[in-house]
Amino acid sequence: MIKAKIRMSIPISTEGRFSPPTQATHIPCVDPATREQLGVIRVDSAEDVDAAVVRAKVAQKAWQSTSFDERRDLLRRLLAHTVDQKDEICITVQRDSGKTRENALMGEIWPTCEKFRWMIKNGEKYLRPEPVSSGLLLHKKARLEYHPLGVIAAIIPWNYPFQNIVNPVIPALMSGNAIVLKPSEWVAWSSAKFIDSLREVIEAAGHDPDLIQAVHGYGPTGAALARSAVDSILFIGSVRNGRRVIEASAERVIPVVMELGGKDAFIVCDDADIEQAVHASLAGCYINCGQNCVASERILVYDGIYDRFERRAAELVREFRQGSSREGVVDVGAIVTPLQLEVIEKAVNGAISEGARLVTGGKRALRDKGDYFEPTILADVTPEMEIAREEVFGPVMLLIRVRDDAHAVEIANGVSYGLSSSVFSKDRGRARGIASKLEAGMSAINEFGGVTYMAQGLTFGGVKASGFGRMNGRDGLRSMCNIKAVVDDRFPINQPNRIFPVGKKDYGVFSGVIELIYGKGLAQRWRGFLKLFDRKP
Ligand code: NAD
Repeated sequence: MIKAKIRMSIPISTEGRFSPPTQATHIPCVDPATREQLGVIRVDSAEDVDAAVVRAKVAQKAWQSTSFDERRDLLRRLLAHTVDQKDEICITVQRDSGKTRENALMGEIWPTCEKFRWMIKNGEKYLRPEPVSSGLLLHKKARLEYHPLGVIAAIIPWNYPFQNIVNPVIPALMSGNAIVLKPSEWVAWSSAKFIDSLREVIEAAGHDPDLIQAVHGYGPTGAALARSAVDSILFIGSVRNGRRVIEASAERVIPVVMELGGKDAFIVCDDADIEQAVHASLAGCYINCGQNCVASERILVYDGIYDRFERRAAELVREFRQGSSREGVVDVGAIVTPLQLEVIEKAVNGAISEGARLVTGGKRALRDKGDYFEPTILADVTPEMEIAREEVFGPVMLLIRVRDDAHAVEIANGVSYGLSSSVFSKDRGRARGIASKLEAGMSAINEFGGVTYMAQGLTFGGVKASGFGRMNGRDGLRSMCNIKAVVDDRFPINQPNRIFPVGKKDYGVFSGVIELIYGKGLAQRWRGFLKLFDRKP
């Protein structure tokens, strides 16, 4: 009955695409690799969102007083669940996103397990109170304490349906917070299943499952969460919607972490190992069908090796198998959303009309089966072309010619984004020198920039339009904390520090103290010392 209603309110064409109406009550879920209808998910209203936040606040009150041992125990159970259920999770992810089976395992399960492992091992170390110097307050001790903020909102995109959920859940739980997730409407079917199963693990461990909650819907549900009584927001998505979330956070003055788009440069110097660089560029451009915030969106190749690089990349890409993993092993899968498919098609056609040369691919594929775009290579792309400036988020390799190191850096930095980056050279000193000049939150030497994610001790995040704040590592964990500065007694001296009433000589004495401590040279310090005994007011 619900399905019949949905069909009336949300038009689903024969190609499985739909235009989300603003007043939608349900989300129809479709497998983009096969156009199979998976089911429907109810849209949460603003009142539902507020109620979820209230429940999360109640659950968080008890959770914040748990010990690190208890939190680690829960993370271990969630890790065991992930490992035990990995095949089921991969199948669910595949069906909702059309990605390949191998990408589901390597891109969703593996980084998630690694994040659990890192957090179980290191979380407490970075959350324990941290003594710092008390400076001149010799009679006092100083320390930083890491308190939970309360309820974290995580508004997340569609490219990694499992990993995007668990990634913020791990630091939120470890730091004593509760979390309300707003998964993307494009992968609501799998997200609902994943969040339900995480809640079951929490409940089985004897804790309140309301520590993790999902609110489902389109943009308005995300907007309602951003305006709700949450204590902090992690937004992962487009720059356009990131701006809206920043506006909402400004109304209540709450902290936000913005993980937005990218246009990563992948620099291949003339002394690079071409075979190594080509294979890494394939990973950078075609993993998850290019639907990666840290995709290598611009391959900057030096003149002297450009033709060889292009030939080898084309040779390998032409061999790619595309389709649904349900029909056998494939290299690239489908495009998660039909809107994204249109964005990719428009970007490629636009580039060709601006003078880019199509080497391979360039159009939709397997139209009778699902939403696919051929793995594509565009050569002779110039930095002025729109495709070289705007995020494509699809299986498209752009080859841009560069003359030398300075030219490569200039082009790499010439876009509004600054997420990750890669530099390839056999001279590691040269590669490091180039990388240090790149305006990016992350750089990888002789590797595709996305690999930084696997070193969970590192932070993840960008500069410029790619966002601010950090996920992962120590700083990502602490971004979910109130970092409280505390001054405490070192000795049991209970003497009043008499500031008032202000004495006639106070100014002179403190002026002497400042010169004595901070004065330049012995003469000034000596003058300061004498002032301490000056009898004149
Ligand atoms: P999107 O901005 O369309 O949607 C992201 C989330 O925001 C979804 O859950 C959506 O429902 C919600 N949303 C939409 N309008 C909203 C509003 N007004 N207020 C609050 N929430 C709202 O992004 P997308 O298309 O799902 O994801 C693709 C983008 O995400 C790309 O630009 C990609 O680079 C970026 N991304 C960044 C990272 C990173 O870590 N930097 C990771 C993955 C994806």
